[in-house]
Amino acid sequence: MEKLLTGKICIVTGASRGIGAAIAARFRAEGAKVYALSRGAPQPAAEAAEPAGEGSAAANEQWLACDVADEASIEAAVATILGKEGRIDILVNNAGITRDGLLMRMKTQDWDDVLDTNLKSAFLLSRSVLRTMLKQREGCILNVSSVVGISGNGGQTNYSASKAGLIGFTKSLAREVASRNLRVNAIAPGYIETSMTDKIPEEFRQKLMDSIPLGRVGGVEEAANAAFFLCSPLASYITGVVLQVDGGMGM
Ligand code: NDP
Repeated sequence: MEKLLTGKICIVTGASRGIGAAIAARFRAEGAKVYALSRGAPQPAAEAAEPAGEGSAAANEQWLACDVADEASIEAAVATILGKEGRIDILVNNAGITRDGLLMRMKTQDWDDVLDTNLKSAFLLSRSVLRTMLKQREGCILNVSSVVGISGNGGQTNYSASKAGLIGFTKSLAREVASRNLRVNAIAPGYIETSMTDKIPEEFRQKLMDSIPLGRVGGVEEAANAAFFLCSPLASYITGVVLQVDGGMGM
């Protein structure tokens, strides 16, 4: 069967684990060359990967150390990729953190860390790849927002603000670059099982489960499927959307 991302050069931030790792794996399986950006190296895959022959998924896997909250680190990573490849087709702004707490007690540092990592990074990375994409007259940016960016969530004012900000950013940039054949979309996952959601206290976990019409948590592959769809030619007439991947939680 035809691989829909064959030869595409992609950047996926926060691809060392969780949703980002699943997006990177899905893109590679579809023929893309994926540069995974994170501060720490990706965790080794549980099962043996296919041999790293030319064109294999393993050969299409590249990791670059990058702190997306740091402008110089982003500029260096993008320059390295452009130096090697000369083009960038897909950017997925996925890296994200939480620093939860009630607003009254929230430290300024916790606000800044979350906004810098989750929102400012999307601005810096998008700006950094945009000149290349505009020249190519082809490209796609996907931002990983969250259902709480739409609904809000007590104890997550910083995180919700960053994720809501990503939605405004997505729609505004989509309008800005559409005439050059660039598409900008977002996914808004609900409750997906990763190291981020491992931290949720048990007493909230059941409440959360009760709020999901499909009655279960989502898998990282289910978020990756939505990311793949929006970044593939299957979504060639779709820009400026926020696709909820949340088992109905946010409807
Ligand atoms: P994880 O905590 O499992 O993974 C987060 C990833 O982001 C890691 O690869 C981490 O790598 C990377 N990261 C964090 N900070 C930085 C940084 N400063 N620079 C570079 N990379 C960084 O989270 P998830 O997979 O669950 O989340 C992925 C995205 O999905 C996030 O944006 C999150 O907000 C969003 N999301 C998740 C939901 C869920 O239920 N899991 C629901 C809705 C949205 P490292 O620490 O090595 O840098």
